[in-house]
Amino acid sequence: MSFASRTSLSALCMGVMLLSPAVSGQKTRADDILTPLGIRQVKVGGEIGRRIDVTVNNNLLVLDTEKDFLSPFRKRTAKNGYIGLGKLIDATVRLAAYTKNEKVLALKKHLVETAIKTQDPDGYIGIVAAPTRMWCLWDIHEMSYLIHGLSSDYHYFREERSLEAARKVADYILQHWSNMPADWQQQMHIATHMLVTGLERSLLALYRETGEQRYRDFCVQQRALPEWDLEIVIGRRDLLKGHVYTYLVRALAQLELYRFQPDKRLLRPSHRAVHFMTDQDGMCITGAVGQCEIWTDDQDGRLDLGETCATAYQIRTLESLLRMEGDSRYGDLMERMIYNALFAAQSPDGRKIRYYTPHEGNRIYHSGDTWCCPNNYRRIIAELPAMVCYRCGAGLAVNLFTPSAATVDLDGGVSLKIRQETDYPTSGRVPTGNEADNQSSQMLDHDPVYVTSRNIVVNHSIASG
Ligand SMILES: [Zn+2]
Repeated sequence: MSFASRTSLSALCMGVMLLSPAVSGQKTRADDILTPLGIRQVKVGGEIGRRIDVTVNNNLLVLDTEKDFLSPFRKRTAKNGYIGLGKLIDATVRLAAYTKNEKVLALKKHLVETAIKTQDPDGYIGIVAAPTRMWCLWDIHEMSYLIHGLSSDYHYFREERSLEAARKVADYILQHWSNMPADWQQQMHIATHMLVTGLERSLLALYRETGEQRYRDFCVQQRALPEWDLEIVIGRRDLLKGHVYTYLVRALAQLELYRFQPDKRLLRPSHRAVHFMTDQDGMCITGAVGQCEIWTDDQDGRLDLGETCATAYQIRTLESLLRMEGDSRYGDLMERMIYNALFAAQSPDGRKIRYYTPHEGNRIYHSGDTWCCPNNYRRIIAELPAMVCYRCGAGLAVNLFTPSAATVDLDGGVSLKIRQETDYPTSGRVPTGNEADNQSSQMLDHDPVYVTSRNIVVNHSIASG
């Protein structure tokens, strides 16, 4: 597909006067065009809402968290390995905030409290025995997502103990970083950026919550985030440098750092990835990318196409670019990936999750509930409500057409409710209604606005096409 002939999301911004969005955390220097609504402000129905429901009720709440997730953190006898507890905490925090479900809230509390109880005085939380910590597979990766999940718990629930635990894990990594073996990549046969997957993004999340400069400095200095400019490596080459998920998580961290220090170099890898996917055959028709987790351009839709982690980070990277640039073509790609690749990774009842989503041949389910793909699936599902509707200057923009309701605060203590009633994507028609809580709102004078996939129709005439 071409990435050069689609409409701009700015054309879809509805002209309603809104308060400036509440700013939390560290002040940015590069403002986004679009600002997402909080996940507590949105309720989603349709297939997206159904996927969230089955992920909560038939997957998250039926996990054996004690045996599969928590026990290894109590024992800490492994020589290496990966569970994904931090990812699970991050997903559960977001789903607890979104659903307000008592069972999810209780699970979130239990996971966080148990993880914190296992923390050593030096800050370590993990599954690995002391002699091999940090420099085995995948200890830093596990700790990175624990930082992220605990920071999320502070972000959404203001849990001070979680933020303190996140800080201690991060400081443990920073203190031991200089002990990295000079030939670590060669020992592991894996590139460093893959060995520490998620580290920079987690430290930037912690920086946003704490304002403590050392976490951002580590990303800039020790991790050289502004200088990182890896080409697209096709195929399973030395050190697995063509790994899609770990390329995109680092590119996404660059986009997040860009908001604090607008250095154009930080935009190159993510733009290169989009160009590869859309203009160089890097993406199959379903939106799935890569074979065996690695960039490919042969359009092979069989076997190990589209690692679920890669799909999740494709969506996140595109969403970050959408907010930054306001170009609806990113939203079009997100929609394609969500419906055709992401949802294809889950059984219809929600219980099982796939590692890969080929569109030709048999698909198989991942055995077990731990590891990367099942947990990254739960995380991205929890993030979808914040990808539906955005503030856009003085207006609102709809990105994902799905039955949904959103509440936005207006001047004078008035709340604006935005409602999408549609059977999209079954049909292309998306009537969008709005109403104000208080009758004094000027919004009551606005005429209905109808949005279709390509056009915005106001007062029965097409405003853009
Ligand atoms: Zn995965």
